Amino acid sequence: MHTGSCLCGSIRYTVDGALGPLVFCHCARCRKANGTAFLAAVTVEPATFTVSDPHARLASYESSPGVFRKFCGHCGSPLFSHRPGPPEVIRLRPGTLDSAFAGPVTAHIFHRDRAAWLEGAEHAPTYDERP
Ligand SMILES: [Zn+2]
Ligand SMILES: [Zn+2]
Repeated sequence: MHTGSCLCGSIRYTVDGALGPLVFCHCARCRKANGTAFLAAVTVEPATFTVSDPHARLASYESSPGVFRKFCGHCGSPLFSHRPGPPEVIRLRPGTLDSAFAGPVTAHIFHRDRAAWLEGAEHAPTYDERP
């Protein structure tokens, strides 16, 4: 069982089962949708996925035909993408998990489109907090 929520806590979800493979997507749409160098996504079995949205804040954007990016309309957190299908596919944004998840990353996709500014990031100094 996994649980997660958006930044403001309006939307909560549970995954009553295991999380699928963790993939980093470097495509331009994912970078735009998240404002980050790449998107992290895990596939979840639709039958195991439950969303609680008591204030009806779950918003949706169809970023490519039949693929809906779901986010909190109040705080903006990207939560998951939904392809109604068939087959139905849900790809959860694991940065929104409240339960522990250790991966591992299984693949980088659209790697040829990766942000140039990501190159060499592993060599930058690290700090445990903002210095
Ligand atoms: Zn929110
Ligand atoms: Zn992508």
